[in-house]
Amino acid sequence: MSPEPELRKLITGEQIAATVSRLATEIRRDYRDKNPLLIGVLKGSFMFLADLARQLDFPLEIEFVQISSYGGGTESSGAVKMAPGALPKIKGRHVLVVEDIIDTGLTAAFLLDYLGRKKPASLKLCSLTDKVERRRVLVNIGYRGLAVPDKFIVGYGLDCDEKYRNLPDIYVLEQ
Ligand code: 5GP
Repeated sequence: MSPEPELRKLITGEQIAATVSRLATEIRRDYRDKNPLLIGVLKGSFMFLADLARQLDFPLEIEFVQISSYGGGTESSGAVKMAPGALPKIKGRHVLVVEDIIDTGLTAAFLLDYLGRKKPASLKLCSLTDKVERRRVLVNIGYRGLAVPDKFIVGYGLDCDEKYRNLPDIYVLEQ
């Protein structure tokens, strides 16, 4: 039997809260009068988007898409999949994609390309964390939270095989 994975704390709940506040300040400045459409990428962004949206004190709309380049486990499959679902009209909207982490960049690049074809008035990306060393395609992160090392992280929405999403801090999963 393989040993239980160990969790090593990387980012505290306080650091996350400070980062969310900083990003919210930047987003408030840029979107106050734009009635933006925030699109959260499921499932990992649910907690971040919930905390972020509570600090945005102006009209906005929230949608989610399920899209991922990870299967189970901790290695990217490289293939991006999107669950078919209805999104509202994108044309002419100010769209802000909200991600938990940008790793290879494949997921974000795919989604930004997909949404960009629908002619939004503007299209930007906000990510809580950035695993910058692993990038395989260029993505512009308009609102960037914290750089993280090339380790598999869990907590604050991020999972490993659906576990750990509920943790209020972010941990490195040592296998
Ligand atoms: P990318 O397409 O940028 O390689 O990967 C983006 C997606 O992979 C994220 O939305 C997330 O679901 C998953 N992912 C990438 N790195 C990690 C990680 O360190 N921990 C967890 N839990 N998920 C990750």
